[in-house]
Amino acid sequence: MRYSAFTVIKQALTGHKDWKPAWRDPEPRSEYDVIIIGGGGHGLATAYYLAKEHGITNVAVLEKGWIGGGNVGRNTTIIRSNYLLPGNEPFYELSMKLWENLEQDFNYNAMVSQRGILNLSHSDPQQDAYARRGNAMQLAGADSVLLDKAGVEKLCPFLDFDNARFPIKGGLWQPRAGTVRHDAVAWGYARGADTRGVDIIQNCEVTGFLMENGQCLGVETSRGTIKAKKVAVAVAGSSSRVMAKAGMRLPIESHVLQAFVSEGLKPIIPGVVTFGAGHFYVSQSDKGGLVFGGDIDGYNTYAQRGNLPTVEDVCEGGMALMPMIGRARLLRMWGGVMDMSMDGSPYIDKTHVEGLYFNGGWCYGGFKATPASGWCYAHLVATGQPHPVATEYRLDRFVSGKMIDEKGVGAQPNLH
Ligand SMILES: Cc1cc2nc3c(=O)[nH]c(=O)nc-3n(C[C@H](O)[C@H](O)[C@H](O)COP(=O)(O)OP(=O)(O)OC[C@H]3O[C@@H](n4cnc5c(N)ncnc54)[C@H](O)[C@@H]3O)c2cc1C
Repeated sequence: MRYSAFTVIKQALTGHKDWKPAWRDPEPRSEYDVIIIGGGGHGLATAYYLAKEHGITNVAVLEKGWIGGGNVGRNTTIIRSNYLLPGNEPFYELSMKLWENLEQDFNYNAMVSQRGILNLSHSDPQQDAYARRGNAMQLAGADSVLLDKAGVEKLCPFLDFDNARFPIKGGLWQPRAGTVRHDAVAWGYARGADTRGVDIIQNCEVTGFLMENGQCLGVETSRGTIKAKKVAVAVAGSSSRVMAKAGMRLPIESHVLQAFVSEGLKPIIPGVVTFGAGHFYVSQSDKGGLVFGGDIDGYNTYAQRGNLPTVEDVCEGGMALMPMIGRARLLRMWGGVMDMSMDGSPYIDKTHVEGLYFNGGWCYGGFKATPASGWCYAHLVATGQPHPVATEYRLDRFVSGKMIDEKGVGAQPNLH
């Protein structure tokens, strides 16, 4: 058998001559029923559900780099379904239900850990807003518990409750939320799709679209022309660049978001904890590292690395909440390119070009959406109809005025 350069390098690095990837390494064929552009979490999940739920297996996933090299392997691994609006909450709750059965479904250990998420409140109006959000979650079948200060103290005694600027008043606790080993999600979906016949083609960059009479007939790639009946784009932070090749300008800005990991510490953080007065969220990995993040850097970029002012801002958020974090040493940090939509909500839609579909605008929150996004995108591509929980994720919602602005903050990416 002929192995790819990646496999040969991996064999050499690990010293295992028999090592081979959990999925095939096929040459691209000249034509497929469906091409998915982007081998991140959403692209791979879509391929998996197209094959498994709709029996469509003549599918290629085209990835310009390697599986898991994008945001699916760069995020802070948080999953949750604590949304307010009817356009969002049923979708994220479907995702949560899919997470709950994912490992059994694709027979891969993704370390799904429902350790809960606590959103802290720092004022009485914020506590009222959490009560409202918790009620909306329960109406959509999700779980939520409104905690007062004593309830938060019981869960997280290490927090700074009487910080003069940001006193902690209570919080919204979602017990079923948690964390998932991010890159294992890509690998699980990849293996599941591959065993059902999907071709996963790495090192294959899409450089253009084949268009004729308003119809998309395939793609140009760094490995040649590939025809397809349907082309589904799922390239997250590269959305604007890829769709520009189809002549489309998107309501999306690309920004860098950083993530941080501390040295390994004894178990202290019970689940995921988020600051309610700024951008800071933290969990603790099974190895003991504090995994945390904050705001986007705030300028448009396609670079997968950030800058020091945001590091300082994130660490200040951490110190305001839990001063003990100042004693921990930072081990690693990295960045990923976020596809920030103007109302903070995503798109799963057909485009005006026949046969061309778009999935993107995931902002900070697309990892938790991975299963439902794949499920609903596969449904759209297979049936031509939006899935019932994704009907509002339309590309034209800014024209029709049907924004899904969870926080009511308007078109400013860093506020979502
Ligand atoms: C630091 C950070 C922390 C985050 N934390 C969380 C979190 O805790 N919870 C949460 O829910 N979300 C989080 N997110 C967001 C989440 O990771 C993303 O929204 C989600 O992963 C995006 O979808 P994806 O997995 O398909 O993207 P990606 O993995 O980025 O996949 C897109 C793929 O498309 C490929 N591609 C691009 N252009 C082309 C082309 N021309 N041809 C072929 N392939 C192409 C890329 O190489 C890439 O592999 C975080 C993101 C970052 C960066």
